[in-house]
Amino acid sequence: MRLYEYEGKAIFNKCGIAIPRGVLVRTGSEAQRAAIEIDKEVVIKSQILAGGRGKAGGIKTAETPEDAEKITQEMLGMELEGYKVNSLLVEEKLDIAGEMYMGITVDDENGVPVAMISAEGGVEIEEVAKRNPGGIASHRISPLYGMRSYEAINLIRQIGLTGETLLSASRILTRLYHVFAAYDARIVEINPLVTTSTGAMIAADARCEIDDNSLFRHPEWQDLRIQRIDNPWEREGVKAGVNYVDLDGDIALMANSAGVAMSLLDIIKDEGGHPACFLDTGGALSKERMKNGIALLLRKAKSDPHVKVILVYTSLVFSLPDTVAGGIIEAIKEVPADIPIMLISAGEEERRKQVQELLKDSGVKICPSVEKGVREAIGIARQESRNGYIC
Ligand code: GDP
Ligand code: MN
Repeated sequence: MRLYEYEGKAIFNKCGIAIPRGVLVRTGSEAQRAAIEIDKEVVIKSQILAGGRGKAGGIKTAETPEDAEKITQEMLGMELEGYKVNSLLVEEKLDIAGEMYMGITVDDENGVPVAMISAEGGVEIEEVAKRNPGGIASHRISPLYGMRSYEAINLIRQIGLTGETLLSASRILTRLYHVFAAYDARIVEINPLVTTSTGAMIAADARCEIDDNSLFRHPEWQDLRIQRIDNPWEREGVKAGVNYVDLDGDIALMANSAGVAMSLLDIIKDEGGHPACFLDTGGALSKERMKNGIALLLRKAKSDPHVKVILVYTSLVFSLPDTVAGGIIEAIKEVPADIPIMLISAGEEERRKQVQELLKDSGVKICPSVEKGVREAIGIARQESRNGYIC
């Protein structure tokens, strides 16, 4: 989960990394008040969950509080890098003498955190890596010992810093590692880390990405993560406890394991069909999760006229007939189906018969095989299915 710049900066501030004086605003008049309070020229920075704002026009300066108000009003509601601007950070404008890059991320190949620094700040590090790979110095950090101060000093020395600036920058780097470890981050980045004309070192930007797998340790972020999923159906998926990926086809597909769901996706594609989504309920299915999954697809179908059919695969090896059939029936009660639901169930003959029996008045079509189920679903989606065709 990516944090906003202002959230990252609040963490930096708490952990002893200097940040510019600033106020988060949501209206023009708040921006005006913030500029009066800051009492000097300000930088107005749109808060979106993406970088590259400088180039995209998401960062402006204002000399007077009136300008700050006007610029904020212009920027609010703007679409930037695919995100809508709802809030902005009004900050004192730094008097920049130098900019550098400092970041820590996970080196997946070696399974350790890696610190990276460059004298080229304010430029995307990926660009520097392409154009001038020698301009980046890096150091793998032992997760057992953390970032020791002599390691930070040795690393920063490599980009030519000396004296006080060398010491300040290395102090910031050890603190940045503390943020990285304490907040279970995948990325923490200060780009640019600014040296002001008076020699102070200040984090002018903050990028923090928290490892989603660690969110159970940060209950305060659980709700935020859900709110920050852009796609409303994917947001519903998290709430329903299923893995949902929205796609743009016409066959809504669901299975009770990710592997089977992916295989079905491939088979549908191979047969010339277009999946509308990928929904994996996970194994050890409960009636509740089964119901949630189907209800989600039914709601999606109601709001998206492209969706023509729901194709469900459930294995009856680990799931009981009552769980599968009962879940579907409850979902249809909650959201009446106005497109066909087709069920492929695999497992013992006995259990399959029970499912069929339980669903006999539900309107759900039972398919005898994956191939037939997929082909008929594609047929329905193309509106080519012949009357009376039994799959
Ligand atoms: P990004 O483009 O989304 O990474 O946003 P940044 O926060 O990194 O800002 C982009 C650029 O704007 C920086 O590299 C700086 O050159 C400039 N900038 C940001 N804050 C200030 C500031 O306080 N003073 C000055 N002079 N420039 C700033
Ligand atoms: Mn930046």
